[in-house]
Amino acid sequence: MRLFFALWPDDDARAHIAKAALALRVAVDARPVPQENYHTTLAFVGEVSMPQLVVLQQIGRSQRAAACTIRFDAYDYWRDSHVVVAVARESPASLTLLSAQLHRDLTLLRPNLILESPQAPLRTHITLARKVAQAPVLPAMSPFGWTARSFSLVRSDTSGARSVYTVVDTWPLLYETPKA
Ligand code: ATP
Ligand code: MG
Repeated sequence: MRLFFALWPDDDARAHIAKAALALRVAVDARPVPQENYHTTLAFVGEVSMPQLVVLQQIGRSQRAAACTIRFDAYDYWRDSHVVVAVARESPASLTLLSAQLHRDLTLLRPNLILESPQAPLRTHITLARKVAQAPVLPAMSPFGWTARSFSLVRSDTSGARSVYTVVDTWPLLYETPKA
């Protein structure tokens, strides 16, 4: 199975993302990402076996990252992958740390786990449209906040015409206990 760690939106965040996607008018032949597929990838894992899934769940459970609010504030076109994305030009430190820690923990698993994406700096984004063949004129974005209270391990089935994602497991992000 093909897996990745991601932030999965709650209804509130999904509504904000949908609104941002609607405000974006990409070429008619482009393929808008269906609302149920919206996510922010933290660490891509790739193909794993059943025993490796258990290890990934241990990795997920062992994280201690803080909850945070991400401010998505711009559209971008990524030429190499032909996608239009919503980006957070500044990522909360806790998110960068979580992504880095996940990558480190995944690396420790090698050579049992084949990592398709070695540590790369986190580019916090949500893909809004695919198959965008030419650089579109992008409007300014009305910024929106996504409060991330948890993160998930997600299964990706890319065998069909469009990707189907299934959340396998979810772990809470932490709130600091106020000091007395
Ligand atoms: P397709 O590749 O068929 O368009 P997809 O991108 O929807 O499908 P996956 O390729 O399984 O589905 O990717 C799942 C998530 O992981 C997506 O957010 C994708 O951008 C990200 N991802 C995929 N491959 C990599 C990689 N090598 N490095 C970093 N992120 C990746
Ligand atoms: Mg892909």
